[in-house]
Amino acid sequence: YAPDDGLLVIDGLRKEFGGLTAVEDLSFAVEEGEILGFIGPNGAGKSTTFNCVTGVYPPTAGTVYYDGEDVTGEPAYEMVKRGLARTFQEFRPLPDRNVRKNVELALVPDRVLSLTGLRGETRERAVEICERVGLGDRLEQTPDELPHAGLLRLELARALATDPDLLLVDEPFAGLSNSEVEALSATLEELRQDGLTQVVVDHNMRGLLSLIDRAIVIEFGAKIAEGPPEAIRDDERVQEAYLGG
Ligand code: ADP
Ligand code: MG
Repeated sequence: YAPDDGLLVIDGLRKEFGGLTAVEDLSFAVEEGEILGFIGPNGAGKSTTFNCVTGVYPPTAGTVYYDGEDVTGEPAYEMVKRGLARTFQEFRPLPDRNVRKNVELALVPDRVLSLTGLRGETRERAVEICERVGLGDRLEQTPDELPHAGLLRLELARALATDPDLLLVDEPFAGLSNSEVEALSATLEELRQDGLTQVVVDHNMRGLLSLIDRAIVIEFGAKIAEGPPEAIRDDERVQEAYLGG
């Protein structure tokens, strides 16, 4: 892969934890404007890949390019500044703050800013983001008052608060009913219409097929298939990975 093969390019990524190789020689590119599915069984290395790209862990080997620049091993706040955001699979909103305040705090990581004249502006912006993710009628609720689907949307809002060009969404459909999967897919599709490129993780293809343009499937940290959703679904190695696991 060349640095400008996509908005995000991952080339030969490897991540070891002690003796365990979680990601092994993984390469793929994310094209501007697409929704890419990033699929694999539990433990396949999906979150670890996100962690290596967003500055949570330095990769053991390989190169990450963002917007044509080598950003390998850059810290999380630098990646956020560049326009890359992610959601976490295990997220913890501030329990004693309402939905709006949780998003406001993600909007203004530097607390000093919130003490200056920007206060009104950040409030408006937080409300706007909450409305975009369907939390407009839950602004004053605390996280423990939200249903599970609402918490996932709050995590999405928190990531959107950094105004990203590319969003990595880690298992947004986990624990959702079919109708909730459809509703959240519609929200992600709207964000794409507004120009947000996305990589959406799931441990199966349920719900993803109608949303994504393309998918990458990994197993044991390595890519086993790549292509349009229908081809992926019918792929023999992919079926084996799921039936065998
Ligand atoms: P996925 O997100 O696809 O379910 P992960 O990326 O979370 O998979 O995990 C891939 C492998 O790496 C698993 O075997 C997991 O136990 C291991 N792993 C992930 N993070 C760590 C860590 N911080 N320390 C040690 N092992 C880890
Ligand atoms: Mg994971």
